[in-house]
Amino acid sequence: MPILGIDDTDSRTEMCTTYLTIEILKNSNLDLIGFPRLVRLNPNIPLKTRGNAAISLTLGRGEGKKEVVGRIGEESINSFKRYREERMDIDIMSIIEKFSPKEKDTNPALVIGREKNDENFYWDAVREFVDYAKVVDKVKGDFWSINGQVGIVGANAAISWPERNPTYELIAYLEREMWSGSHFVDDSSSKLIERTFVDTFDNFDFKNNYNAIRPTTKTPVLFGIRSIEPTRLIDYERYIKSEPFSSFVIYKTNQATDDHLVERTIEESKLYSSSIIRGFVSSEPSWSRGGILSFDIESNGKKIRVVAMEPTKEFRTLLSKLTRGDEVRVYGGITKVGFINIEKIEVISVSRIKEIRPPLCPKCKTRMESVGRSGGFRCRKCGARSNKGEERTENREIAPGFYEVPIIARRHLARPLKLGIVK
Ligand SMILES: [Zn+2]
Repeated sequence: MPILGIDDTDSRTEMCTTYLTIEILKNSNLDLIGFPRLVRLNPNIPLKTRGNAAISLTLGRGEGKKEVVGRIGEESINSFKRYREERMDIDIMSIIEKFSPKEKDTNPALVIGREKNDENFYWDAVREFVDYAKVVDKVKGDFWSINGQVGIVGANAAISWPERNPTYELIAYLEREMWSGSHFVDDSSSKLIERTFVDTFDNFDFKNNYNAIRPTTKTPVLFGIRSIEPTRLIDYERYIKSEPFSSFVIYKTNQATDDHLVERTIEESKLYSSSIIRGFVSSEPSWSRGGILSFDIESNGKKIRVVAMEPTKEFRTLLSKLTRGDEVRVYGGITKVGFINIEKIEVISVSRIKEIRPPLCPKCKTRMESVGRSGGFRCRKCGARSNKGEERTENREIAPGFYEVPIIARRHLARPLKLGIVK
């Protein structure tokens, strides 16, 4: 059975690799086996397209029970569990060529294999910076590419994804002539599903009034709804009030899996990797130009700067409540040497700041004042003296627990706290 992996058919401003699923299904007489898969890769790699998404499809002659996983026009897209092997009946590369933008940084690639590939290809592509030359020799199956072979890394990773803790996304697509321009997706229906259903996530950011199911750039995608429960997604699609769309399909995806994150020390956290680093806050959080909030954490004598950029909104204010001595685990990406771009934090313990202040005068019940350098305290009214100050534990405005960036700043791979912690 052909398993297809496709990557890098979009640019920063155009197309979306996932749309090829629709075009392939429209043109092929083969059936979809299982869900189509949407696989997000290392989000820290520079020059990558917006979502850094690859897709994988298994095609064959479906047999037995079928399930509806989408629609093209008036026709259902069926998915089968059982199948008979068939040869590919269309030229996928010509479809890729037709739809991918002709740009320097768009390097479309297609891998057609017969089975899933070694999952390490996936882990490397979601966690590291992979040299494509090292992958090209090891690809099982046939591959094609346009404009260089960089796209092979993602295409091969997509057919190597082991599907651990998957989530699902229903993506609705516009007709090609509608791709540019602005589109209508009603906010209130997005708010409704966010509020009502526990299995769906990242639909609407109430604090920032941001409708997250609607993309903000020029793309074939009209909206996308995410859930951990694929069978519910078709119901949610009916809740969304929007302009008409021509097709939709449900993907199984590695979004919201935290697959990119690895528990590492500061030393081990290399450029472009994503780490979970445990340490103590070692400098007071401070604001800098452009609304950036940052502070240092330290562990085993090493230091790294934790950075929360402007788009992380109110999360920065929360982080500003941290102070020296707090123990934390920081989840984020190393986009610059010495810096970790924060996605999530576990505050393990908050330090109890003790402050010594002048005691109350036992006679007058007013607060004494400090007597310069010599130490001690004195009552301004009656002149009584005391050497012992009053110890005070400051009320902290942050408590131990997990905190995350708001929906508006969430990366595709980052697991919302709503879905529970897996790492
Ligand atoms: Zn007094």
